[in-house]
Amino acid sequence: MTHILNYIDGALSPAVSGKQLPLTEPSTGLGYGFMPDSDGYDIDRAVEAAQRAATAWNKKGPVFRSSWLNKIANAIEEKLESFALAESKDTGKPLSVARSVDIPRAIANFRFFAGAILHDASDAHADRPGELNYTLRHPLGVVGCISPWNLPLYLFSWKIAPALAAGNCVVGKPSEVTPLTAHLLSEVCQEIGFPAGVLNIVHGTGLAAGQALVDHNAVKAISFTGGTTTGQTIAASAAKSLKKVSLELGGKNPTLIFADADLEAATDTAIAAAFSNQGQICLCGSRILIERPVYDKTKALLVQKAKALTVGDPLAAETRIGSLVSKQHFDKVLGHIALALGEGGNLLSGGGRVLVEGRCEGGHFLAPTLLEGLGPACETNQSEIFGPVATLQPFDSVEEAITLANDSRYGLAASVWTTNLNIAHHVSESLECGMVWVNCWMLRDLRTPFGGVKESGVGREGGTYALRFFTEAKNVCIKTY
Ligand code: NAD
Repeated sequence: MTHILNYIDGALSPAVSGKQLPLTEPSTGLGYGFMPDSDGYDIDRAVEAAQRAATAWNKKGPVFRSSWLNKIANAIEEKLESFALAESKDTGKPLSVARSVDIPRAIANFRFFAGAILHDASDAHADRPGELNYTLRHPLGVVGCISPWNLPLYLFSWKIAPALAAGNCVVGKPSEVTPLTAHLLSEVCQEIGFPAGVLNIVHGTGLAAGQALVDHNAVKAISFTGGTTTGQTIAASAAKSLKKVSLELGGKNPTLIFADADLEAATDTAIAAAFSNQGQICLCGSRILIERPVYDKTKALLVQKAKALTVGDPLAAETRIGSLVSKQHFDKVLGHIALALGEGGNLLSGGGRVLVEGRCEGGHFLAPTLLEGLGPACETNQSEIFGPVATLQPFDSVEEAITLANDSRYGLAASVWTTNLNIAHHVSESLECGMVWVNCWMLRDLRTPFGGVKESGVGREGGTYALRFFTEAKNVCIKTY
């Protein structure tokens, strides 16, 4: 049995209350350990430790902080395989994905912000005679980072690395569904002698530990990634103390395939965009829009490729689709499929549970599911399902494609497939979202703005956007003569 502990002031400890929550491995359905069911008392301890550490961490300067972030990255890299195994066990995702995507990306996040802080610069406005303005950027002090279960260490590190690099001390609250790699991170921090109190990790539910972090008066900002409804609750709570918030929320992203596209490449990537990580990525393309002259051909390719994906034991090398993250989530996604069929959807592939024999017979595996015949207004095309379910819709013109793509309360990302440069530019400019990939999907440069519009969030992460969020600007104006 694994016993996860909080990491507060450099030490590992249980919740003050002694309460624990059970942990389940989704691909087997079996319990594997316990984690602290922390509450406001644990958050208070963590915030106090962070406050004590804040001045020294900031005063040591960017070179010092950068070197510590690199030490964390190196320490994770040395244990990449055990981190990958833990991530796969906790989430049900294929080990191959955790090994090649999740953990390398977490390492890259620490390295990226270790470098970014060394090259960060502030503004000066010195073009008016007799006046000099320059902008100081101060860290906020203690900040809260709250992350979801789909890419646990990847998204946790995407927040804490810029916060630490900018000179803040952090209280992190990883998802209670997948706390294991955050716990391994705290063990790594202990092993390398990371300064006590600079990073604190408190495990527990959103309602107890998460809400206490959001409500804490000494916490100056909340960086949150998760569901839209939770984001709205956090924004409302944070408004009481006028905390800064960065909200990365849900998505219902379109993949637009025009008739002139390279259909092999487009369908390969559309399948990856729909089903990677069992469809549990905020960036997943769950609405596939296809220009009518190539609709039938594209549909046939998509169905063939969806059916070819191997669903199975996350530890098996050939597995492309692992288990959904929990029984509760599995039931929710099955409910969405039933609703889609009730709405008149025509099932093209998948649609139900896959029984994986042996070790994983108690797991929560779903076949990659494609549906057609559903209009833009139906629930299936409006709700974020966050599972391996995507719909196909035809369109007849560029303008209709844009209208269909924008017919959503979400606005996170889009993937556009065309060889026509004018269409690529016009559609990219017209889409209501924060990120557009043309002839690709999820190709990431960590310097670029990451985030969404409408109900997909507020603010941007990435590069200087994150460093700006985690600092407060102060203008100094000097009359020079
Ligand atoms: P969730 O909103 O249920 O939980 C996310 C985190 O918030 C967890 O750590 C949870 O404990 C915490 N939380 C819950 N209620 C809270 C409260 N009242 N106060 C403070 N913290 C609280 O989301 P989830 O189910 O873990 O993740 C799936 C969602 O995340 C999907 O909607 C997905 O689109 C979204 N997501 C968005 C992005 C992005 O970058 N836009 C990335 C990944 C996931």
